Amino acid sequence: MDYETVIGLEVHAQLTTKTKIFCGCRSHFGDEANTHGCPVCLGLPGALPVLNKKVVEMAIMMGRAVGCSIAEKSIFARKNYFYPDLPKGYQISQYELPLCEHGYLDIETNGDLKRIGITRIHLEEDAGKLIHDQDEDSLFDVNRCGTPLIEIVSEPDMRSPQEAYAYLMSLKQILQYLGICDCNMEEGSLRCDANVSIRPFGWKEFGVKTELKNMNSFRGVEKALEYEVFRQQSVLDSGGKIVQQTWLWDANQNKTVPMRDKEDAHDYRYFPDPDLVPLLVEKQWADQIHQELPELPQARKQRFQSHYRLNLEHATVLTDIKEVADYFEATAQSVKQPRTAANWVMGEVLRYANDKKVSVRDIKISPNSLARLINRIDDGTISGNAAKKVFAALEETGGEIDDIIEAEGLRQISDSSELEAVVQSIFDANPDEVVRFKSGEKKLMGFFVGQVMKATNGKGNPREINKIIGAKLC
Ligand code: ADP
Ligand code: ZN
Ligand code: MG
Repeated sequence: MDYETVIGLEVHAQLTTKTKIFCGCRSHFGDEANTHGCPVCLGLPGALPVLNKKVVEMAIMMGRAVGCSIAEKSIFARKNYFYPDLPKGYQISQYELPLCEHGYLDIETNGDLKRIGITRIHLEEDAGKLIHDQDEDSLFDVNRCGTPLIEIVSEPDMRSPQEAYAYLMSLKQILQYLGICDCNMEEGSLRCDANVSIRPFGWKEFGVKTELKNMNSFRGVEKALEYEVFRQQSVLDSGGKIVQQTWLWDANQNKTVPMRDKEDAHDYRYFPDPDLVPLLVEKQWADQIHQELPELPQARKQRFQSHYRLNLEHATVLTDIKEVADYFEATAQSVKQPRTAANWVMGEVLRYANDKKVSVRDIKISPNSLARLINRIDDGTISGNAAKKVFAALEETGGEIDDIIEAEGLRQISDSSELEAVVQSIFDANPDEVVRFKSGEKKLMGFFVGQVMKATNGKGNPREINKIIGAKLC
């Protein structure tokens, strides 16, 4: 039987506020365990939560960036369950009335554009963190309790694991452009639960879905979905039934393992949190946040094409990651040809960052010094190849561009009288080629330039050499 895959994703993104969502404790990954807790986030009786305005602002930013409407009134609810990382015994979330609804995200797979619906984006608090891999005991860290999250829930609009991957990439890009989430899946600042079902092609009704958790990379999500589709197919093909369940992705075994039967909403006994008043958002405030949104990836990609005259492919590579786009623009400002800056960033800079597995923000050469280096090619001081050597030296050992050029003897010979003498000596040594060139064999130009380069140990300025040969022979 041929089946169609149906996927919907629930993404939790930690917001990069300084403090937690309902108290003034610092919210920061990697601090010493149990150093950020107070009566509110520890869930002591009688403590009262107070909503962090910045959290709402960031959630509205995301909502508006993906075309959601912003509710003028939304409600915080208690989602009740017991777990050792949840001191209060309930998580404050939004249930019936979320802050943002009815948005969408456009994704691209194999050159095709597709619109994926976003059902809702709501606010909630994170639980604390349990660390299980220490001896027999489990450890608890309160620091993460009350970290602000937005949960972004998609419609079941994706039809393949590849579309799910593209959706996640696009979502991550927007979160990063907005500067509201680190999007570090390994540190847990972005987490994805994937819901998947299959149905015979042509069927209107969805099949029973399973939920996948525990993937710590986007490729992991893609792989887990591929595996789960395969598993569901085998179950149905052998006459079995899919049960609504939660499965865990085991990256070591490359398979999903059952975790628990999926709970229903009523299991959580949601009810409005009596400690929090309804959240009222004036339309004017939401509109103002919308107007002040930073430039988003799609818009930036288009501007790179129109303003810097880059083709779509290059504009895509350069806007994929915000830091790369920033790096490129900062470089392009100080060089004659933005396209040269584009080639350098896509070439040496990205290669270097990938090799060293660092962010472009963390490489030693600033956009400013890259621009100065490019200008040294433009003004004829060094060749493109020599510039790559300077680039490598700058990255490895640091230093000043001009000092490296001198120390490594990379300066080009651009002095025309010096080059003219070399050109003449090459002509004298190759009289036959001179005759053939004059009688129309223009491709010998390459031969002459090559000879002159050889005679100057590769330091002749090719542009000057071409000019001199042309002037002498044509
Ligand atoms: P639940 O009540 O189990 O939480 P929801 O209807 O709230 O389910 O949907 C949760 C997520 O699962 C959403 O992202 C939604 O798009 C997705 N989803 C819902 N039904 C299906 C289905 N049959 N197959 C795949 N994904 C689905
Ligand atoms: Zn606190
Ligand atoms: Mg639900």
